[in-house]
Amino acid sequence: MPAIILEGVLFVVLIATVGALFYFILMSFTPVGVRLRQTRNRRRLDLAAELVCPIHGPRSSNDLVRLPSGDVLCPDCYKETLNG
Ligand SMILES: [Zn+2]
Repeated sequence: MPAIILEGVLFVVLIATVGALFYFILMSFTPVGVRLRQTRNRRRLDLAAELVCPIHGPRSSNDLVRLPSGDVLCPDCYKETLNG
């Protein structure tokens, strides 16, 4: 009985290892990997740009105010908008 369980566990480990190796090769040595990395870089820079208010400078994502429309706004700009 323990041999069957061990065999099952080793099979799952083998599948996971082959999957990880496939992912590593895909991400490191193919144009698909380059494309995914470039997309990830764009998302990262877009996120960083969202955190910088052109008037008040950089803000933490925890400080930002989400409007009902879904856009995010710097808290100082939101206060200025509210107070007129
Ligand atoms: Zn602002």
